[in-house]
Amino acid sequence: ESEIPADHPRYTDLVTRHRIERGVEKGITHLQGMHAEGRGSAFDYLLGEETTPSADDAERAAAAHLLLADRPVLSINGNVAALVPAEMVALADAVDADLEVNLFNRTPERIDAIASHLRKHGAEDVKGIEADALIPGLEHERAKVDADGIYAADVVLVPLEDGDRAEALEAMGKTEIVIDLNPLSRSPRVADVPIVDNIVRAVPNITAHARELADADEATLEAIVTNFDAQAALEAAEARIRSGF
Ligand code: ATP
Ligand code: MG
Repeated sequence: ESEIPADHPRYTDLVTRHRIERGVEKGITHLQGMHAEGRGSAFDYLLGEETTPSADDAERAAAAHLLLADRPVLSINGNVAALVPAEMVALADAVDADLEVNLFNRTPERIDAIASHLRKHGAEDVKGIEADALIPGLEHERAKVDADGIYAADVVLVPLEDGDRAEALEAMGKTEIVIDLNPLSRSPRVADVPIVDNIVRAVPNITAHARELADADEATLEAIVTNFDAQAALEAAEARIRSGF
């Protein structure tokens, strides 16, 4: 990262790409994570590489959901761990949520590498290691979660999640918050709160909203949640991509 000049017009994109490469080298990110990153980068380019007003609304609704939740869980995969480890720990602190490592390509080595990477960035308890429960309707390896983590959660934040797994979590009746730069991908389309924004901007902004709403009463939070329109958020993102900015 130090080699990239901070005034480069596409600084964030270059830093992001570099972090994914380092993640692969460290064994926390799967090679396929680089392809996911490339797709995300293309959509971010078309969105103007900034948080749109509609994405900001979604991030505020996400904060309200997380604050209202009884058992909120933030799901961490290899790209999330490489891009925003400290930011996910800060969000977990701000909304009193658990962090759970949840991998599409699950290996014990990668689970351990991600868990210790998160601990290095300040996480205390990291779930997803026992993986003693299964999400119904998914193939065994893809279904593994913690019984007292994602399985029991009422609100889950699943950034950059695979479409099948996003659908299966939704079918379990969870309130699902998805961060994904592609508004046409299945994962944001099944989410209660689709956040079409780069995770490097989205997570700190959810945390900022959560801190600002920390003392809000339940009625205020409920109103934010009720007034959020998932379909409108997806349409706003798609319109921005198609029409330019
Ligand atoms: P499908 O339509 O089957 O879901 P996909 O292209 O979405 O295919 P996935 O591997 O499921 O493939 O998802 C990766 C998703 O993560 C992509 O939609 C991509 O836009 C998104 N993504 C990648 N990097 C980021 C990022 N930094 N922030 C937010 N979203 C990202
Ligand atoms: Mg997808």
